[in-house]
Amino acid sequence: MDQIDPLDAIIGLEIHAQMNTRTKMFCGCSNDAYGVPPNTLICPICTGHPGTLPVPNREAIFKAIRMALALHCTVQEHCHFDRKHYFYPDLPLGFQISQYDFPLARSGVVQYDIIDHSGNATSSHECRIHRLHIENDAGKLTHRGTHTLCDFNRAGTPLMEIVTEPDLGSARHAVAFAQELRRMLIAAHASDADMFKGMMRFDASISLREKGSTVLNPRSEIKNLNSFKALEQALTYEEKRLRLVWEKEGGPLHHNITVGWLDDEGKTRLLRDKEEAADYRYFPEPDIPPMHFTRKDIQALQKDLPPPPREQKEALIKLGLTHSEARELIDEPQLRLRFDAIFKKTADAKRSSGIILTQLQGFLNAAEKNVADAPPLEHLLELVEHIDNGTVSANTGKEILQKMVETGKPPSAIIKSEGLENITDDRALEAIIQQAIAANPQAIDSLKKGKEAALGAIVGWVMKESKGKADPRKVSDLLKKILK
Ligand code: ZN
Ligand code: MN
Repeated sequence: MDQIDPLDAIIGLEIHAQMNTRTKMFCGCSNDAYGVPPNTLICPICTGHPGTLPVPNREAIFKAIRMALALHCTVQEHCHFDRKHYFYPDLPLGFQISQYDFPLARSGVVQYDIIDHSGNATSSHECRIHRLHIENDAGKLTHRGTHTLCDFNRAGTPLMEIVTEPDLGSARHAVAFAQELRRMLIAAHASDADMFKGMMRFDASISLREKGSTVLNPRSEIKNLNSFKALEQALTYEEKRLRLVWEKEGGPLHHNITVGWLDDEGKTRLLRDKEEAADYRYFPEPDIPPMHFTRKDIQALQKDLPPPPREQKEALIKLGLTHSEARELIDEPQLRLRFDAIFKKTADAKRSSGIILTQLQGFLNAAEKNVADAPPLEHLLELVEHIDNGTVSANTGKEILQKMVETGKPPSAIIKSEGLENITDDRALEAIIQQAIAANPQAIDSLKKGKEAALGAIVGWVMKESKGKADPRKVSDLLKKILK
C-alpha cells in the first residue's frame, strides 16, 4: 500500500485589518472606538445621511500604500473606489465603499517561518499576495434575545483587505503566515493589529486536490475568524471534513460553499450552498474622484518605510536581548512602545526588558490584566526617574510598579500614600548606621581588618532596619566615612 498522503490541501486567506488612523475613512469622527459608549463616535457621513459627501482620509491611503510596499506589492498608478451594494442593518449607506477592479496594489510576496516549540525557525516559506485594497468597516450588531442592537462607532473605520494566492498548504502554515502578516502590519505602522480588539479578521478558503495536480477545485470558505486559534482550529477541522467527503464521494466538492466556525462546538456549519458570485452591483463611487500616484509619490513612501519585523528583531538581539525577548517585543506593540521609551531614557536594553518583559508582564498576568490596561508610558518613565535619582530603590520601584498595575495610579501618588521615599537625609541615615555599628561588632571588626565581605552584612542590616528605604550605595559610602 502506498503510505504517502495522496491529497494536498490548498489554502488562501483574505485578511481585513483596521488601520490605526486618527479619524475614520471618509469623515472626521475618531477612529478609536475601544471602550467608548455606543453611537457616540458618529456623524451624518458615517451614518449615511442623504446629501452628505465622503472625503477620503489621506493618512489611511498612505498607510495602505506603506503596507502594500512592505508586502512587495506593485502600487497601481491609477485606482478608484467602488460602491459594493448589499443590505444589512450594520451598513447604514446601503453599500460599502470598497475597491473592485482597480485595487490600490497587486502581486506581492511574504516570507514566513515555521517555528518549533523552542522558538527556532525550522523552515522558511513564501506566500504570494494577490491584491490589497482599501474599504470601510461596517457597524457592529449585538444580538440580545429577540432584539438586535446597532453600534455605528466602527462604521467607517478604514480597512485594508489583503488577499493571498492559495499558497498555504496547511492550517499551521496559514497561522504562521497570518502571524508574520500581523508583525508586518505593526512594523509598517499601518495597523495596531490587536486581535483582542478585533482589529484583524480572517476569511480562509480551503480545497483539496490530488498530489501533482494543478487544478483548483471548488473550495469551502470559512467566514470571519478573529483569532489565530480559531483560524487554526477551523482549517484543521475543515480539512479533515473535506478529506472524509473525498473518501466518501471519490472527489472534491461539486461547488463552492461558505461555512461559519462554531467556536463552542469546535466545528463548521454550512451557511451558503452552491454559492454563485453575489450581485453586488459594483460601480465606481461617483462622489470620490479616482486616485493617481506618481512614481515619485510612491518612492518617497518607500524611502520612509520602517524596517520589516525580521530586521527589527535582529536589531533588538544586537542590543543584547534574547531571541524570545525580541520576539515578544515584536509581537506586542504596546510592550514595544514602552520598552523603546525606557531604553531611550536609560540606554540599557537588559534593564529595559527586565522592567517591561519580566516585571510589568508578570504583574499584568498576576492581576489578570491585558496589555491594553498597562500603565501609560509617562507613568513608567516617571518611575524610572524616581529610581535613577535615588528617591526609591530598584526593589521598592518593583513594588511601586505592581501597585501601578493594580491601581492605575501614577508612581508619585503611590510613593506619597505609602511613604516609600528613600531616606535621603544624611543625618537620619547616619543614625541607623551608628545602630548597625553597635549591633554588629564582629562584622565591624572584620571590616576594619580589611575583610570587604563584611560590608555586605552591615549594609544589609541597614536596609532591613530602614525597610528598604535606604540607598545601599550611599549607606556603604557613609559607613566607610564613619569608620575612618
Ligand atoms: Zn463620522
Ligand atoms: Mn472586504
